[in-house]
Amino acid sequence: MSGVILPGSLVNGQPATLGVMGGGQLGRMFVHAAQAMGYYTAVLDPDPASPAGRVSHHHIQTDYLDEQGLAQLMQRCAAITTEFENVPAPALFTLGAHRFVAPASDAVAIAQDRAAEKAHFVKCGVPVAPHAVIETEAQLAAVVDDTSAAPGRPKPASAPSGGSAVHAVTSVGADLFPGILKTARLGYDGKGQVRVKTRAELAAAWTELKQVPCVLEKMLPLKDECSVIVARSGTGEMVHFPVQRNLHRDGILAVTEVNPGVIDPALAQQAIEATKAIAEGLQYVGVLCVEFFVLEGGQEGGRLVVNEIAPRPHNSGHYTLDACDQSQFDLQVRTLAGLPLTQPRQHSPAIMLNLLGDLWQPPAKSGSDPNFTPPWDQVLALPGTHLHLYGKLSARKGRKMGHLNITGATPEAVRATALQVCALLGIEPF
Ligand code: ADP
Ligand code: MG
Repeated sequence: MSGVILPGSLVNGQPATLGVMGGGQLGRMFVHAAQAMGYYTAVLDPDPASPAGRVSHHHIQTDYLDEQGLAQLMQRCAAITTEFENVPAPALFTLGAHRFVAPASDAVAIAQDRAAEKAHFVKCGVPVAPHAVIETEAQLAAVVDDTSAAPGRPKPASAPSGGSAVHAVTSVGADLFPGILKTARLGYDGKGQVRVKTRAELAAAWTELKQVPCVLEKMLPLKDECSVIVARSGTGEMVHFPVQRNLHRDGILAVTEVNPGVIDPALAQQAIEATKAIAEGLQYVGVLCVEFFVLEGGQEGGRLVVNEIAPRPHNSGHYTLDACDQSQFDLQVRTLAGLPLTQPRQHSPAIMLNLLGDLWQPPAKSGSDPNFTPPWDQVLALPGTHLHLYGKLSARKGRKMGHLNITGATPEAVRATALQVCALLGIEPF
């Protein structure tokens, strides 16, 4: 761990500069937070129009593995973070040899691979969905399919859980159908996932996914989804945000609600403990989000199963920008600069609505206006609405264009405003 990088200081004769690999919206909000605190910023992203590149002091427009680009970033920056998990881990490794990099390449490498990620959860003693790693034809053939078993025929023996067994067959040897086949790498917003009901569909889906390494996961009946965001410093201090309840539509986060009681308190405590164990197990430095499924059953408000981790701030934490005394991006800056961490406090009930490109489609009655812009003036006329747009010029369906945070005096008031916003924008109510 390097020493503290004080805001507004000079480092080797240059204004203290924090760097970020990746120029998407998460990088943009990191840049905003770093600049507010007095740092200079540098972004590495090949896209000249990247949301973060546009607002940063420096924008290095090269590929993530370009040696000259990485050298320039190191020359500019006292410390470097990442904003999306698909930044090649070798690039972070290169940077880490010369600069303080948080999170470290080995933690990011685990988050980049669903199989390694699940093995880490098992190691930390946190329950995962029944699953099988599929990298070979033999592993595909070994998947148990109860639907093809003759009545009365004994089920195949269960594989033991933990250790290498997680990589061999399943964590519980259970029937995995209906299931979801997910590419082990490079998936996001439900991309790289195929739902399968039978072994034949599984084989077809694996072919469709070009037979890249995959994880087949049993489809679970979800009561709810939630996530926890922690920040861990280089000296092992850890702070966390309240547990968020998340609603996904078509595999994409749609709504996050953070109010007392949305998640049972005992279950929320379990989720926080599990998240801390996962961060501790990685010796993680930076902001980490852990996503969970909540299933029916269990003693408290459900049974918790970990889904996946993101080695960075997360879409489900965007409400912290307006509803907490420190945002997840503030904490990313602090962990990177070696500044102290203090427990963040939520000062207002909050709901976050994601603003997807779909909202830029003009309503049918108004024809096909290519310059249609959603009626933000009407939205901002409602109390406690905070608009965040990422500066993306083309609004494709499903593309994250921005988000809207709604705060208010009570959870009921926030919800009522959120539903009014949904009606104005044509978002399906929740
Ligand atoms: P991504 O990396 O695209 O976020 P996830 O694995 O988190 O992929 O899946 C996206 C969403 O799909 C989840 O938030 C959940 O709503 C649904 N989903 C994923 N896996 C399962 C599962 N095993 N059972 C039920 N729903 C699932
Ligand atoms: Mg997810």
